Amino acid sequence: MSTVNDVLVIGAGLSGLSATYNLSKAGKLVQVIEARDRVGGRAYTDTSFGLPVELGCMAIHGYNEGNPVLGYAKTFGLETKLLPASSGTLSTKDGPLNAILTKKLYANLVSAISHMNKVTSESSFSDTSSAADVLVSSSSPLYTGLSESEKPHATALARAAEIGWGIPLEEASAHWSQWASGIAFAGSDGVIMGGYGKLVEALRAAAEETGKASFVLNSRVSKIIQVDDGRVQVHTSDGKVYDGRTALSTIPLGTMKTLPRDFFQPPIPVRKVSAVLRTAVGILEKLGLLYDSLWWDPAAGPFTILLDTGTILAFPISNSPPCLHVLIPYGLAGLSADKIHDILSRAIASGKSVPEPTKVVSSRWKDDELALGATSSPVRTGEGRSPLDFAELARPVWGGLLGFAGEATEMDHRGSVPGAILSGEREARRIQALLDRQYIV
Ligand SMILES: Cc1cc2nc3c(=O)[nH]c(=O)nc-3n(C[C@H](O)[C@H](O)[C@H](O)COP(=O)(O)OP(=O)(O)OC[C@H]3O[C@@H](n4cnc5c(N)ncnc54)[C@H](O)[C@@H]3O)c2cc1C
Repeated sequence: MSTVNDVLVIGAGLSGLSATYNLSKAGKLVQVIEARDRVGGRAYTDTSFGLPVELGCMAIHGYNEGNPVLGYAKTFGLETKLLPASSGTLSTKDGPLNAILTKKLYANLVSAISHMNKVTSESSFSDTSSAADVLVSSSSPLYTGLSESEKPHATALARAAEIGWGIPLEEASAHWSQWASGIAFAGSDGVIMGGYGKLVEALRAAAEETGKASFVLNSRVSKIIQVDDGRVQVHTSDGKVYDGRTALSTIPLGTMKTLPRDFFQPPIPVRKVSAVLRTAVGILEKLGLLYDSLWWDPAAGPFTILLDTGTILAFPISNSPPCLHVLIPYGLAGLSADKIHDILSRAIASGKSVPEPTKVVSSRWKDDELALGATSSPVRTGEGRSPLDFAELARPVWGGLLGFAGEATEMDHRGSVPGAILSGEREARRIQALLDRQYIV
């Protein structure tokens, strides 16, 4: 007879790992089924340069503002570091901007954001407007005191928001744009020394040490079925079948959009399917570039490159060996590493001769069928869309036997590591209570 697990967890990203860690610590028997050959999902630290390059999440946003990653890092003895608060250097495609203009552009951006917050909270505000309608409209404080030739730099700086959002300002709802501010972790940023891969491995090891959790990799779930006796069966594409009293799906939103109709049997409610379709997944790619010799001013980073087609961020993560960690927004996501290097060298070194990279690593979240994008995007414009869609994505089905976790299921923290971790904790608590009630009966 096959083992009947208490919980079948589908996906071993940070949401699945946090659920598994908390459930196994509480004595529940957990089977994790992961399609990749590794755990971590969109938390992926590449070490092929001999130093950690984050191809997924990097920052602990809200380092001093209560990000739950800090608690886990402390539990597992992982070293973390607060990053210096520096806006670094602003450049256009032809080279760095002067300090006076840089200061002016940042000051205008701050005014434009507080203007957007003010107008979007007024009762007369049209809730069909996009963030672009307010932030980069000709009357926006973004352009105060700038010459015609300087205004495009201000627009490009405002578009830096698209890096995190993963969608154009034109698609993001202005009405909901600031909805999560004051709740989401923000303010200071930090990192885990050695990368998020350390947290991923620590969570897996701690779950396995309980003797209650086991992981199967390289196994893609193809169906989740509620069987007649009230249990859940998970089928994988390699023909395996797992039995559980409950199940937790952490399949990312992008992949959820492509699941066949019979993936869930019985089907999940229409209102959840509609929420999956109404929400969007943004695009953000990462690039690591390793060089033989240092070609940028170590005191000048990070570098923000303002282009007509989107804004690129380049963080020097090491000066010895020289290594750049580059964030590439949706509009430039298809560009080759050579092309990005050319853009960076021109923008940062004003076209002076610089060495070619000796090694390159890059992400492909957009085309990765186990993610199909970076993270859920902020609420888009359009009738009926609101943050409640994320709450709908979180709702369990089948009388609570099948739960849903993942970054897109945390209304207040979507699109982030805290969102993934808190969703795993939330489902661990809910499933634990459900199982404890089942045993009493
Ligand atoms: C480029 C990038 C930069 C980011 N930067 C930051 C940052 O600086 N700070 C921050 O807080 N957040 C950041 N994030 C967001 C953060 O990485 C994610 O929110 C978080 O890692 C998502 O975790 P998850 O468990 O929800 O999903 P995932 O990590 O995607 O886990 C889901 C797992 O399910 C597996 N899976 C999918 N389908 C199946 C199936 N059918 N069968 C079995 N397994 C399956 C996948 O392989 C995956 O391992 C970034 C994300 C990206 C992509």
